[in-house]
Parts: sequence; C-alpha cells; structure tokens
Amino acid sequence: MDSVGVAAAAPDAGPGPAWQSKCPWGAPNTTSISCSLADVMSEQLAKELQLEEENAAFPEVVAAAEGPFITGENIDTSSDLMLAQMLQMEFDREYDAQLRREEKKINGDSKVSISFENYRKVHPYDSDSSEDEVDWQDTRHDPYRADKPTTTPRRGFIGKGKDITTKHDEVVCGRKNTARMENFAPEFQVGDGIGMDLKLSNQVFNALKQHAYSEERRSARLHEKKEHSTAEKAVDPKTRLLLYKMVNSGMLETITGCISTGKESVVFHAYGGKSATEDKVIPPECAIKVFKTTLNEFKNRDKYIKDDYRFKDRFSKLNPRKIIRMWAEKEMHNLTRMQNAGIPCPQVVILKKHVLVMSFIGQDQVPAPKLKDVTLSSEDMKKAYYQILNMMQQLYKECNLVHADLSEYNMLWHDGKVWLIDVSQSVEPTHPHGLEFLFRDCRNVSQFFQKGGVAEALNERELFNAVSGLNITADNEVDFQAEIEALEKMNEDHVQNHGKKLSTFSSDGDPPIYDE
Ligand code: ADP
Ligand code: MN
Repeated sequence: MDSVGVAAAAPDAGPGPAWQSKCPWGAPNTTSISCSLADVMSEQLAKELQLEEENAAFPEVVAAAEGPFITGENIDTSSDLMLAQMLQMEFDREYDAQLRREEKKINGDSKVSISFENYRKVHPYDSDSSEDEVDWQDTRHDPYRADKPTTTPRRGFIGKGKDITTKHDEVVCGRKNTARMENFAPEFQVGDGIGMDLKLSNQVFNALKQHAYSEERRSARLHEKKEHSTAEKAVDPKTRLLLYKMVNSGMLETITGCISTGKESVVFHAYGGKSATEDKVIPPECAIKVFKTTLNEFKNRDKYIKDDYRFKDRFSKLNPRKIIRMWAEKEMHNLTRMQNAGIPCPQVVILKKHVLVMSFIGQDQVPAPKLKDVTLSSEDMKKAYYQILNMMQQLYKECNLVHADLSEYNMLWHDGKVWLIDVSQSVEPTHPHGLEFLFRDCRNVSQFFQKGGVAEALNERELFNAVSGLNITADNEVDFQAEIEALEKMNEDHVQNHGKKLSTFSSDGDPPIYDE
C-alpha cells in the first residue's frame, strides 16, 4: 500500500508543512501525515513545558468541596475544578450555537418563526464578549486543536525502554475520560470535545460527571427562573470563575463568605493574598463587590449613567451586561477620586469585568456597622456630622462628585470615623440631575442627624448651599427644588448651545451665568 506522507513524498526536502509538498485534494486515502521524530519530540517537550508552567501558575489548593459550585461558601479553588467549569461553559456555548443553527434551519425564510431561546444554556448577553474569549484562552491551551486520540494496544503499553506508555498513563487516561463523556445523559452537552485530543484528568472527569447531574437539575429550574442568573448569595458560573481565578492567582487567599446581598450587588469577604506585581500591596482583608448580572434592577438606574457624559459615547451601543460592567467601572473611578482626596473609603484593589475588589472596612471578617445600625454617643454623633459635612464638600469640590445615594445605609462607622461606600451611582455635579441628587443626599443626611439629636445640623437647604457653594435663597422646599431644576436646565441649554458641559456650577466666574 502506498504511504503518502510528507516524508515519503519528499524524502530529501526534510520535514515541512503538508501544503508545501502535497496537494490537499490529492490522495483520498490519506489519513495521517507523518513527520520527523524530532518534530514529535519537540512538540511533546513544548507540551510538557507548558504543563509545568500551568502547574506552577495554579498550585494545588486544598479545599473541601461538597458539591460543585453551589454557593459562595463552598468555593473550591483547585484549578482542575476551574477547568471543568470552563469546559462546561464552552460546551454550553457550543450547544447554543447548535440550537441557533437548528433554529435557522427550521425557520428558513418563513414569516412566522420559532425560537429556541428558552432552551439556551448561556444567556445571550453572556456570550458576546471578546474579553471572555481572552480569559478562556489565557489559562488553557487551545482546545480546538484536532488530534486523533491514540489507543493503547491490548498488551497494555506502547513504546520501548524508558519511553514506555502504559494504559495508566496520565495522557492516555485523560483521553479515555474524554471519550467516556459520551456516556453522560443525552441532555448533557459535551460539545465535540470527544473528537478532539482533550485529556481530562480523573479529577476533572469526576467533577464533570457530578456537574452533569446537577446540571440536569439546574436545567429544569432554569425554565422557571431564567433571568435570575445571580441567585441569592450564589453567583453565576462566570462570576465564580472570575473569583476562582483571583484565588488561584494568589491575589486572594480565601473567600470566606457573603457579607451582603442587595438588589444590585453581592458583597463577599476575602483574605488578601500576594500581588503579582511588587508595587501593589493587597490589603489583608478585602471586600469583593459583584454587580448583579440580573438585568431587571438596573433598568431604573439608567438615568444615572445615561446622562453621565463620561459614559455617554459608550452607552448607546452597549448591551445590558456591558452596562453592568460600567457600574463597576464607575464605582472604581469614583473610589479612586475619593481616595486621592483623602476621603475615608474603600481602596480599589482590582476590577475584573463586573467584579470589584476593594479593601475591607471592618476587621476579622466583621464588616463595620452602617451608621443606621450603630448607636453613637452624642459626642461621636456630632463628630460624625461634621466629618460628613466635610466629606460632602470635598466630594463636591475636590472630586467633582455627588454621591447620589448618600444615607445612613451607605456610611460605615469604623475606627472612630465615617467611611463612605457604594459610589457606583455617583455623578458629577453637572450631570443633568446632579443637583437634584445632591439635594436628596442633603435631605437624608440632615434628617438623620437632626433626628439623631445633633442640634448644630444644618437643614437640607442650608446643607445644600454649604456643600455646593451655591446660594439658593428660597426658604421652602418647593421653591428651592424649582431653583435647582432651573439651574440644571440652564446647564442643559448651555450644552445644547455650546456642545459641552459647564465644568462647574461654582460662582467664581466660570461660567458667569451662575454668578449670584
Ligand atoms: P449595594 O449597592 O448593594 O447597597 P454596597 O456597596 O452598599 O452595595 O454594599 C452592600 C453592603 O456590603 C454594605 O452595606 C456594607 O455592609 C457591605 N460592604 C460593601 N463594601 C464594603 C467594604 N469595602 N467593606 C466592608 N463592608 C462592605
Ligand atoms: Mn448600599
């Protein structure tokens, strides 16, 4: 029988790419392309080196997992599990692609079309990010390199001398495990990994097997709670993956548990680890704020970000998932501004997509109490009031920001002072509703301290003027509010006429229209 291969076809040319010496539509019975031993060896060596590197990058972390990926409490950080999860996600994506193809086939040119959207595993907004692809690739070699799995002959080994390969060999075993995925329930989408040279370790295989079961149950639930991708306490698989990566990279030591589940975010506590770069120090304790990927709650927040000129250009083109990332980004930028002004607030550690890691305000896993939950002496109360007055002025003048959700719920009492948190919705004062937000903040602060017995506390209108430096003279709330809105309107008109915003509302000459 003819052996058609590179070596046979061009014995003198040496090893080279197939296309150089062989017509692609040439011999129909060609099944393998032989190449020189040196090539095989160097490829193997490269694989081994990569494996070593991967092992160094993801050292084994001992963690007890009760079941795969159920809650924030039993996060398993071993990288095998992470890989299993990544595989699962990739399978989900392929499954969805297949669904889409079938959808297209069935619908054809028909005017009435059916949709399989409810059967998709991945939320449509999950799958379109190029960054996601990068993340997927950076921890694993390309899984799409097709390669025929080798089999072990009956005698149980192949090769000679020290190059002997038995059926217990990691690589062979891994390939078998990949093939065994065919036995999973038909609902469990294994992608076309079976035809590829994927090598699953026993641990990964078992994790996948277990995941196949829980996935069946999850699929059933999914129909009822489709939108709830970030459930109570738990977070979605993508977020978990991000968190695993932070632990695996050593940046975080452990994620201990959940501090808060709000409408728009879930906050975890973590012990800090080591930074990859020398210049950055990870705080000993961190708070991880995960912005919820559930889209519903964010709809009514549009007005904060839509009109924020810093995000204006980007808003229109974005899907809701990207908008949520922008919230996280906004919180990071705003915290940084505040940090630079010396306002007590969490320090930003890192931002990854919709996950913001910052320093933890509190100690030994116990978060500092909110101002609403703490009972302060009248002396501390007065101290807190003046501190907040000061911070609001700094925020406005030095950071060019209005908190926009300032209340006793977003101020923590720690180390004998008030710390500001939760600034994702903060805007610049020239935001079309910036002054209204500021007035609302002032009302909250003023009412809290007046009720709290601070006799010196300014009323909301006085506080507004003290913070903004404006001098609105209306002596009742309705007129005051009307004047605020008139100022905002003037600013908007200025934008219309001049194409850009005023840099500030202040009365020191720039721009003169606001001079009192
Ligand atoms: P939300 O938008 O859900 O209100 P927050 O930023 O206010 O989000 O965080 C929710 C809760 O989590 C806070 O009330 C606070 O108790 C806790 N928290 C948030 N950030 C930190 C932090 N850096 N340190 C300690 N606790 C925090
Ligand atoms: Mn809050």
